[in-house]
Amino acid sequence: MKVQSGARVAVAGAGALGSATALRLARAGFAVTVFDPAPPGANASGVAAGMLAPVSEALFDPASRDHLPLMRRARDLWPAFAEDLGLEIVRAGVRIEGSETWRTQVGQRLRELGLPIGEVIVEDWRVDALRALEALRAASEAAGVRFQASAIEAFAPGTLRLADGRTEAFDVLVLATGPGARDGRLAPETVALTPIKGQILRAPVTESDAAVVRGEGVYLAPGQTLAIGATMEIGRDDLAPDASATQSLRAAAWALRPDLDLDRAKVEVGVRVTTPDGLPLVGWSAASGVLLAVGARRNGWLLAPLVADMVAAYLNDDNPGPDAAAMDARRFEEPKS
Ligand SMILES: Cc1cc2nc3c(=O)[nH]c(=O)nc-3n(C[C@H](O)[C@H](O)[C@H](O)COP(=O)(O)OP(=O)(O)OC[C@H]3O[C@@H](n4cnc5c(N)ncnc54)[C@H](O)[C@@H]3O)c2cc1C
Repeated sequence: MKVQSGARVAVAGAGALGSATALRLARAGFAVTVFDPAPPGANASGVAAGMLAPVSEALFDPASRDHLPLMRRARDLWPAFAEDLGLEIVRAGVRIEGSETWRTQVGQRLRELGLPIGEVIVEDWRVDALRALEALRAASEAAGVRFQASAIEAFAPGTLRLADGRTEAFDVLVLATGPGARDGRLAPETVALTPIKGQILRAPVTESDAAVVRGEGVYLAPGQTLAIGATMEIGRDDLAPDASATQSLRAAAWALRPDLDLDRAKVEVGVRVTTPDGLPLVGWSAASGVLLAVGARRNGWLLAPLVADMVAAYLNDDNPGPDAAAMDARRFEEPKS
């Protein structure tokens, strides 16, 4: 479906996917408004560690194991994307630390993935997630995107209804609502999404080394604070910090750095959302005029530039690229009998 340049596009959600998409669409000549009732950064995108880590994800997240080539393609879009935003990519890599048994297991997994065996994964990078959100918002506003602090409740081509009852005229809705809007009312495909609560600890940075440290059951990602993450609580979408769930994270972090002061660490909570195969839903919904950009699991930042490019391609009726089938928005639809 080709949408005319200048068409009015509403983006629901100002996380990594919605923000990257809004900027991309504004640059492509669409009249874009982003709707999000939450304050900037009050979402999974603002809580995230900001790792752009295809190899670590293929190694440590079973659902991502088969997606290494796709994740690498997504990462390779980042240098131009970050340069445009004036955002630094930290390329200090990921250092594997821990017991000899654990490092041997990781070496075995690296071998199975056809990757070089070593103690530092040099091709995994990271960015500062909150700075990235700020930079995306500033660039979007400069490109003419409007932001409204409202939730979208209903859409049909021509009419968008907001939670406060107001209606506005839009031609297309891009759904980038993360764990929100999973009841299928805005797009039936969202019922395939499962939330995964993630808690992450933030402690003061004590080392000058910029590399992420990856140990058994934990990562330590330096930045403005040391991000120690993260729990994977499948099926949960509440934002309540829960000390019992972070206990194993603390133990795993102390095993690597016994001197870490975790008693005063701040706990932050975000909810990721996943599909059964771990890749997002990207493309036209069965609901008329609705395009999906949702379900990025642990990789919303990594995938954001790729998803934004694909959404722009769908709106322009261009080729969405080699990852379109793998991320097809309707791939979990029940076949019609
Ligand atoms: C602890 C943790 C660590 C992570 N670390 C990394 C990492 O290192 N690297 C990485 O790539 N990814 C990481 N992730 C995953 C990443 O954060 C997510 O994949 C990504 O943030 C998803 O972005 P999003 O834009 O889809 O959703 P979100 O960031 O969840 O944003 C969705 C937005 O939609 C809004 N919304 C909901 N319903 C509506 C509605 N009806 N109308 C309007 N707006 C609505 C919400 O208010 C919200 O702001 C991490 C996640 C967590 C929780």
